[in-house]
Amino acid sequence: DLIQPYTPTRALRSVDQNLLTLPHTRFRTRGDRSFQAVAPRLWNDLPLSLRSMESVDSFKKQLKTYLFAHAFRSPPSMISLAGGAPNPNTFPFRSASFTMNDGSTFSFDESLMKRALQYSASTGIPELVAWMKKLQRDLHNPPSVSYSPERGQMDLCVTTGSQEGLCKVFEMLVNPGDNVLLDSPTYSGTLAALQPLGCNLINVASDEHGMVPAALKEVLSRWDPADVHQPGSTAPRLLYTIPNGGNPTGASMTTQRKQEVYELARLYDMLIIEDDPYFFLQFDKPWAPSLLSMDVDARIIRTDSFSKILSSGLRIGFVTGPAPLVKRVELHIQASTMHTSTFTQVRCVSVWFSPSCRRVIEFYSKQRDAMMSSADKWLKDVAEWHAPSAGMFLWIKLKGIADTQQLIMEKAIEKEVLMVPGGVFMIDSSKPCPYVRAAFSLSTPQQIDEAFRRLSLLIREAQ
Ligand code: PMP
Repeated sequence: DLIQPYTPTRALRSVDQNLLTLPHTRFRTRGDRSFQAVAPRLWNDLPLSLRSMESVDSFKKQLKTYLFAHAFRSPPSMISLAGGAPNPNTFPFRSASFTMNDGSTFSFDESLMKRALQYSASTGIPELVAWMKKLQRDLHNPPSVSYSPERGQMDLCVTTGSQEGLCKVFEMLVNPGDNVLLDSPTYSGTLAALQPLGCNLINVASDEHGMVPAALKEVLSRWDPADVHQPGSTAPRLLYTIPNGGNPTGASMTTQRKQEVYELARLYDMLIIEDDPYFFLQFDKPWAPSLLSMDVDARIIRTDSFSKILSSGLRIGFVTGPAPLVKRVELHIQASTMHTSTFTQVRCVSVWFSPSCRRVIEFYSKQRDAMMSSADKWLKDVAEWHAPSAGMFLWIKLKGIADTQQLIMEKAIEKEVLMVPGGVFMIDSSKPCPYVRAAFSLSTPQQIDEAFRRLSLLIREAQ
């Protein structure tokens, strides 16, 4: 019943115009299919995935990639002077062997190594993209999604960590002066990416269950939903949220809240950026359905990350969303980093995901428990918090301390305990903030316990 015809959102419809104002002119798309007239024969011979490209520019780029790939599949009699890639015989490494935590090994033989050290497609290497698409279908299965080339409504692109995906999505969609909604406090990396774009960041209140729908409704009541399509409307077109194990709050949105936020996004025709790097670090089963899984009309752009579940240094993330937008992210990647490291991607494909995933979740869950029992032991009378059900952070309100900046940046350092003062995560960091963020990812339970003992002394001294 949820399945409805695909209606491009306002943000999607105006995206071409937005892109023209960005420095990345390569994004320019004419939205027509004139290239079909230019080369009808060639067009008919192309695989469907290329025919679904929308613009002449991107068509040309894809054609180049296609010809390049084709050259490698050609009969030996073909002499190709077309490719601009370096000769893999000059690359320095011949093979590699990796030992996994369970003692098993995995090797890159000579041909895999040559491939791993070579350029690859901007969208990601095909095996990884295919695996990620299956993962998204299995985990989220959004009602409006079809990965078939005919419908092509949703797509996916590998990024260098989810941070790259986020930045490129923001650059693509945000114009100076736009109103952008986000829960505050929020991830400082998001604030750092959005602030230079000259948009107005509008705070939506959140609590231990994430963004509060009533607060969102209240903020949006400044605009009439009937007017949001009027030219010049200042109604926000974008909402950003971290649905699980929020950074810095550790908060996870309930299913009910997600549904309410999604409905408001429909009413005001907004896109939602669902930044979910802690999705794989949810401690309790069943995992809450994502916003993407509720997406009946392709208004969710989801950024995923393997940083917390696999390795942060491998830098693997992926953007999933409406195909026209993901294509533009891909073009931006083509014009900037070209692609996420092939070596990293090849390595990532061969990691057996689930067993290690379970071990990692267990580890963080036990770390969370250790932090909770130390908090109960030392901070009960001097602070307040909510136990996180995902992620790696505890957001602690210090009683009787109006602003934690000085306490944490000066006195705590003297006492040799480091935490992050809450102001860093606020849209307006000049306002006093009584919170601190404590991570349970890196320290041992003994260190966490000692850190909270020191913190409790500091709070009592400062009160
Ligand atoms: N979003 C949030 C909320 C984060 O906490 C982080 C990492 N700290 C990122 C995005 C970026 O993660 P990565 O680029 O490593 O995937």
